[in-house]
Amino acid sequence: MKYILDASAIISGFVDNGYTVPEVIQEIRDYSSEFTMESLIASGKLQIEEPSEEAVSEVECAVGKTKDTLSATDVKVVALALDLDGCVVSGDYGIQNVCEVLDVPYESAGVKGIEEIFRWEFVCVGCGRKFGHALTECPFCGNRVIRRRSIQRKSQMTGCRKREKASGE
Ligand SMILES: [Zn+2]
Repeated sequence: MKYILDASAIISGFVDNGYTVPEVIQEIRDYSSEFTMESLIASGKLQIEEPSEEAVSEVECAVGKTKDTLSATDVKVVALALDLDGCVVSGDYGIQNVCEVLDVPYESAGVKGIEEIFRWEFVCVGCGRKFGHALTECPFCGNRVIRRRSIQRKSQMTGCRKREKASGE
């Protein structure tokens, strides 16, 4: 199994047949000048690759459905996992969430993985109306709109997968 690592996974020491994207290396350099990846890269334990554009747009589509906030780097990590048919290692719930939607296996580095997919919904604290996108105040009653998680079943979140998987849906 190939493991695609985000910055937290590499920093926490999970390096076993590891792959990552160039932006993650930069993030780690920004995070800690003392952390040395050069020996990992030199020993072949960590390889750096670019995901395909096709995989990146597939992940972006899935992110749009879950309404998670993923950085461009996070998107590329998941995209690389699609390209390599590998397993994502990340402690980030947003990344894990998108992996669920895309049927990409993941392992949690440091924190427990999520069991259900959630997406964000936006609810007025006054009238209770729900909105599909972020608002600062309710257009109906003027109260504050808060963001909360709404749990969805995986079967409701299809439609992103462009490439067919052997198992099918
Ligand atoms: Zn309202």
